[in-house]
Order: sequence, then C-alpha cells, then structure tokens
Amino acid sequence: MTYTAAEGRYESMRFARCGRSGLRLPAISLGLWHNFGSVDSLENARAMLRRAFDLGITHFDLANNYGPVPGSAEETLGRLLKSDFGAYRDEWVISTKAGYSMWPGPYGDWGSRKSLLASLDQSLRRMGLEYVDIFYSHRPDPETPLEETMGALASAVRAGKALYVGLSRYSPEDTVRAAKILRDLGAPCLIHQTRYHMFERTDEHGLLDTLAQEGIGCIVFSPLAQGLLTDRYLDGLPEDSRAVKSGVFLKPDQITPEKLDKVRALNRLAQARGQSLAQMALAWVLRRPEVTSVLVGASRPEQIADSVGALTHLAFSAEELAAIDAVTLG
Ligand code: NDP
Repeated sequence: MTYTAAEGRYESMRFARCGRSGLRLPAISLGLWHNFGSVDSLENARAMLRRAFDLGITHFDLANNYGPVPGSAEETLGRLLKSDFGAYRDEWVISTKAGYSMWPGPYGDWGSRKSLLASLDQSLRRMGLEYVDIFYSHRPDPETPLEETMGALASAVRAGKALYVGLSRYSPEDTVRAAKILRDLGAPCLIHQTRYHMFERTDEHGLLDTLAQEGIGCIVFSPLAQGLLTDRYLDGLPEDSRAVKSGVFLKPDQITPEKLDKVRALNRLAQARGQSLAQMALAWVLRRPEVTSVLVGASRPEQIADSVGALTHLAFSAEELAAIDAVTLG
C-alpha cells in the first residue's frame, strides 16, 4: 500500500544540534545493523521504517557490511526508499560507514583511501542514492596514516558523495588528531559514534569531554546493550531474541544470572519511574549534554514506539541516578 507519512511526525521528537554544526538530529536514531538483511522479512523492515519516521525519527544508520549478507541492509533500504520513502529523502539523514571487512583481498577492509572510496561508491549503488548525509570511518586503522583515512573522508565530501563525515570507535587522542586534519581539509568532523550504556561507562572518563571540547556531536550505539537493558531476557532467552537468533554479538553466555539480577533491579527502578527499562536506559544516556542522539536497533515496530516513549520522561533525580550507579557499578 502507498505510504504517506504521519502528519504529526515532528510533534513529539526532540532535535538537537550535532556538535557545532548546523545539522539537527533526532534524540533517537534507528540503526539497521540487525533485522534489515536479506535473511530478514522485507515487510517487517518496511513496517519498522514507517513506524520510525511516523514517530519523528529522521536519521537512519547503516554500514557497508550490515546484513547478513553483508551489503544487504543497504539494499533493503534502497528498495524501500524507492517503493515507500523516495518523496521524503530530504527529510532523512542517511549514514553509512566503511572500515570493517567487506570484500576479499587487501582493499575490502580497514582505512585506506582505496578501500573507503570504493566502498562508498558501492554503498551509494546499493542504496540507489547520489549522496549519503554522513560517511564514517567505521574504525581506526593502525597501519594507514590518519592523514590518508581522513583525506578519503574529505574527498567524499568534495566529490559531493557525502555531506558530512564522522568517526566511529576512535580513541579520544585519535579523535583530536583526526578532527584537526579534517578541519584543515575543510571537512570538519560532524559526529562520533561510540558505545555507552549503564553497564559500559568508559566514555565518561575521556571521550565525552573530548567531543564537547572539539564541538563534535556524539551518537551512542547499542544504548540498550543489544537488548540486555530491556525486558527481553527477564523471563529467560526468547527464541526470537538477538542472543538466541544471532548469538554472535550478544552471546547467551553473557546473560549470566548475576547480570540478570542487576537487570531486574534496574527494571524495578524503571517501574518506579513509570517507564519501561528500555525507556529508562535511553533517558539515562540522553541525560549527558554531550550526547546528540541515541542509536537504537529494533526487531519490531512496537520496540521503536516504546523507545521513543522515553522522551516523555527524561529527567532523573539525584537519588535515582545514585540508585542506578549502585546497581550497575556496585
Ligand atoms: P540496542 O542496544 O538498541 O539493541 C537493540 C536490540 O534491543 C533490538 O534488536 C531488540 O532486541 C532490543 N530492543 C530494542 N528496543 C527495545 C524495546 N523498546 N524493548 C525491548 N527490547 C528492545 O542497539 P544495537 O546493538 O542494535 O545498535 C544500534 C545501532 O548502532 C546499530 O543498528 C548500528 O547502526 C549502530 N552500531 C554501530 C557500531 C559501530 O561500530 N559504529 C557497533 C554496533 C552498533 P531483539 O532483537 O532481541 O528483539
């Protein structure tokens, strides 16, 4: 059926300026790492994108290798852009990345100019796009000069194939060096993508400060710890969950009884706030002023709606924050 976006789609979403740029991003963005591959249901992918956009999510995050099979999440997006969302292209921010293994041989991986620019051309073809809004270096490459990787990002902007560039998984020190190179090349770093959630606090001791100082936006991936910080595993391991279905990135043996005790304690705190655990986990990440957007994944449209519901209750009392710390750091 032809899709017409919901009239009120911008009424409840919050938008924030990404670092010192002019680009405003939604507080919640949607990632297509899981559940958008060629092995997954196209109808479910369509339903999730429709629900997301209807709720004001305007930013969709991909990478060359998302699938499975690698590349197929971009193909899914390309198909759905054509059938459903083409009229809304200018309301969308579409990101992709290169830097992890994508095709055989020495040029399908890491951060050489050859690899990044060939990968971006492939991504554009798969998505049927003339440009992406954000092109990322997916991870630092210790064997390629930083000047070369950053030069490739800046070339993508000069060629009109990307509007902005970003970094993913760079250390604070490398971020500062990369940001200087990009500034000098006239393609300032827009955004940095990093993992941060109630159980993963590393970035509180460096990266978040660095991003604020550099005027770079921060988008947090896996804010729900891939589903652990939700009600998903409270009553066992569901057959259709990431830990059981995929079991590669979130392994069943990571979901220990000790971890689940903590998740249950957090769930009680969320209930006391009148929220789902997923909503509290997202609000907790968004409490940091450095964070521009949380980048969630989903396996069904209802999860996206639940996650966007976090925006109705973002504030925490000092007591609530202390109680969360006592559970997660204790
Ligand atoms: P999350 O931590 O948000 O985990 C998503 C999973 O949590 C879903 O698949 C679902 O699990 C479960 N879930 C989501 N919402 C709810 C809800 N409201 N209630 C209950 N369960 C829920 O993020 P991801 O790990 O998926 O990462 C998000 C995005 O970040 C990726 O798609 C990708 O774009 C990006 N990313 C970037 C990386 C990088 O290196 N730059 C690395 C990793 C991710 P289930 O499937 O079991 O239902």
